[in-house]
Amino acid sequence: MTTLDKDAMRRSLAGVLPANQIVTDPISLITYNRDAGLDPGMPDGVAIPTSTEDVVRLVQWASKAQVPLVARGAGTGLSGGAVAEHGGVIVQFSRMQHILAFDQRGGSLMVQPGITNQQIDSAVKAHGWYYPPDPSSGRAASLGGNIAENSGGPHCFKYGVTTNYVTGLQAVLATGKVVHVGGRALDYPEYDLVALLTGSEGTLAIITEASLRLIRNPPAVKTALASFNSVEAASQAVSRIIAAGLVPATMEMMDQRFMRVIEDYAHAGLPINAGAALIIEVDGYPASLDPQMAEIEVILRETNAIEQRFAKDEEERARIWLGRKSAAGAMARLAPAYYLVDGTVPRSKLAAVLSDVSAICDNHELRVVYVFHAGDGNLHPLILIEDPKTKNWCSV
Ligand SMILES: Cc1cc2nc3c(=O)[nH]c(=O)nc-3n(C[C@H](O)[C@H](O)[C@H](O)COP(=O)(O)OP(=O)(O)OC[C@H]3O[C@@H](n4cnc5c(N)ncnc54)[C@H](O)[C@@H]3O)c2cc1C
Repeated sequence: MTTLDKDAMRRSLAGVLPANQIVTDPISLITYNRDAGLDPGMPDGVAIPTSTEDVVRLVQWASKAQVPLVARGAGTGLSGGAVAEHGGVIVQFSRMQHILAFDQRGGSLMVQPGITNQQIDSAVKAHGWYYPPDPSSGRAASLGGNIAENSGGPHCFKYGVTTNYVTGLQAVLATGKVVHVGGRALDYPEYDLVALLTGSEGTLAIITEASLRLIRNPPAVKTALASFNSVEAASQAVSRIIAAGLVPATMEMMDQRFMRVIEDYAHAGLPINAGAALIIEVDGYPASLDPQMAEIEVILRETNAIEQRFAKDEEERARIWLGRKSAAGAMARLAPAYYLVDGTVPRSKLAAVLSDVSAICDNHELRVVYVFHAGDGNLHPLILIEDPKTKNWCSV
């Protein structure tokens, strides 16, 4: 598109929604140039719908004007999905954050896609309910982004990922047609189109409403922090816990380099002299927690854990999690950018895969740190990048 065409396109976009819902000035557009990944893409405009009808108008306009639309929640995605790589208009959901219905007796919630994980969590927990998918970015990440990415998080090892909790969707197709798939019940006699849209990365439709199922908030939780000589040793412990058939609510791992950076930043009391640490949490009825932890404790001893710390109260638990949840902020102190490799491997192969990743990075003189959801084998080696512009990656 030429500059002239783009100016005409922007003028035409201005007629689709009220002026305070359209952004076209170049300075403001810069803030939409990236998501949390590395690849940039400047949009030609941003539209901020407040209703499904607004989205329909936008889609009909874009279809006629042949302009690409890119849905965007909070832009915390790591794969460039919310970036307008080839120009076009970003559809930003920050003004569609409402809870539309909360069935407190049936345990279901109907929401708009811009609502964040944290907003859902506080709304439902106050009434004894729990929405488990919890990407570590959940303070900002939107439900629309969660659905499009089929997000998991620290608790998905026990509770599953987003697709296990979305029962129904309202979405706008590329023609502007509004479709409803699934609903507020768990199962419908139709093709499972909810599952098809969940994880479709914004490529099949724009989601404008979602129905979620909730579960009872676990009545009690117990948290432990175990340290090991190496990431490989900690991985052995994870594999052994899983092989024993135990299902902790979460198992999160951090390596020494990462702990040291986090500790400098968050002062969370992490075991920075150990090679790796594992946060293990069990939940359920209060009486079930000690027997679960006792079995885990035996395995930790057998796999040569250097130290095991059990949170005695909520304050200690919050302190352990503060370390893990400060990971993203702390990264900025290590390098201005990083490339996050997000892969899932069979959990029995964790130790072997981590050794290989470290060896490959050593060979290529890449600096790598680890923080990841060990319970579901979801590895996040973070490769540090010194200068994102020249792509000169850090050497060890
Ligand atoms: C520090 C950090 C920690 C993270 N931890 C995790 C984690 O533990 N687990 C995990 O799975 N991910 C994680 N992520 C990745 C990311 O945060 C999640 O995928 C999150 O769900 C994205 O939400 P968002 O609102 O930021 O989506 P965006 O980045 O805005 O968009 C992501 C994708 O969703 C599409 N999309 C957004 N809204 C809609 C909509 N209404 N309709 C259709 N498509 C839409 C976009 O087009 C894009 O393709 C992490 C990211 C960071 C930066």
